[in-house]
Amino acid sequence: MSIKVYYEQDADPSLLRDKRVAILGYGSQGRAHALNLHDSGVEVVVGLRPEGASWQRAKEDGLEVASCAEAAQNADLIAFLVPDSQQAKVYQESVEPTLSGKQTLLFAHGFNVHYHQIVPPAEVGVVMIAPKGPGNLVRKLFQDGQGVPCLLAVAQQGSSGQAKATALAYGHALGGTRAGIIETSFKEETETDLFGEQAVLCGGVTALIKAGFETLVEAGYAPEMAYFECLNEMKLIVDLIYQGGMAHMRSFISETAKYGDVTRGPCIVDDHVRATMKEILSDIQSGKFAREWVLENQANKPVYNALLRREAQHPIEEVGQRLRAMMGWLKK
Ligand code: NDP
Ligand code: MG
Repeated sequence: MSIKVYYEQDADPSLLRDKRVAILGYGSQGRAHALNLHDSGVEVVVGLRPEGASWQRAKEDGLEVASCAEAAQNADLIAFLVPDSQQAKVYQESVEPTLSGKQTLLFAHGFNVHYHQIVPPAEVGVVMIAPKGPGNLVRKLFQDGQGVPCLLAVAQQGSSGQAKATALAYGHALGGTRAGIIETSFKEETETDLFGEQAVLCGGVTALIKAGFETLVEAGYAPEMAYFECLNEMKLIVDLIYQGGMAHMRSFISETAKYGDVTRGPCIVDDHVRATMKEILSDIQSGKFAREWVLENQANKPVYNALLRREAQHPIEEVGQRLRAMMGWLKK
């Protein structure tokens, strides 16, 4: 591999000793980062809105809690772990007014920095440590003495020249260097993340499932059968791919399934689909998608909410609810 990977010995944990880290947000990532850093001996203050539900939770976990502005003001490193759509507002209201070149800003996803929703002054260090897993896994593996692989990126080193080394120290305290921290850029992380969720993971997969379901139902087959074949079994296949790759998955399916897979798959994802993928990527690279999503948020999300409402009414949801009620093991 030509990419750079950092491990335990590449980080200098002393860079966060006697330093104060503000973790803004206490959701999926925020809670895991705050607790892991705290357990690693780093001084942590959690920044939250006093009226929110997280405030009490962070207190109950034994952490110091303050408003975002108070937390940010005296911190050496400020980690933005509120939702991406809230980060620019939190930056403008609670961070920017007291921001200085002695501070480092850390992100777990590059959207706001890459698309200039947050533009810190040049003297401020701006970095990313993005765990490639959900917060509960980041916490659980840390407690087991392991870690989740992370991405590292540096948008600007700042006047200290130490932003990257500080990010590595943060990744070390988080448990990330135990597994390996892969170096990338804000641009690469942001654009590949958006492309993956739009074209393959979220947009691609749900559209593929629905198209398969609709094709069977329109041909007169029972919706229950269509649900099992096009949605329910997706998990079994994806689990095998996740565990060991495509060849591993294929070693578990029948000869007939394998032949259908390799001969029919390429007909489904054909040149037309690939051309559309290129268009989706081009909208991400040009900033067109980002502008659309930022404006949609400013307009109170009318299109987003309408489309989600329509999706919720799709027949696959109704049949799914009935069939999942038969699957007792899904209940908790
Ligand atoms: P969450 O949606 O879980 O964050 C919710 C937290 O943010 C809550 O504690 C909430 O507090 C707080 N919050 C929300 N709005 C505000 C506000 N205006 N002011 C103060 N606090 C606020 O976020 P995630 O952990 O999912 O994401 C955080 C970052 O990590 C994002 O950049 C995301 O892209 C990135 N990331 C997420 C991953 C994941 O697994 N979820 C994986 C890798 C990266 P309250 O109780 O007050 O609502
Ligand atoms: Mg994503």
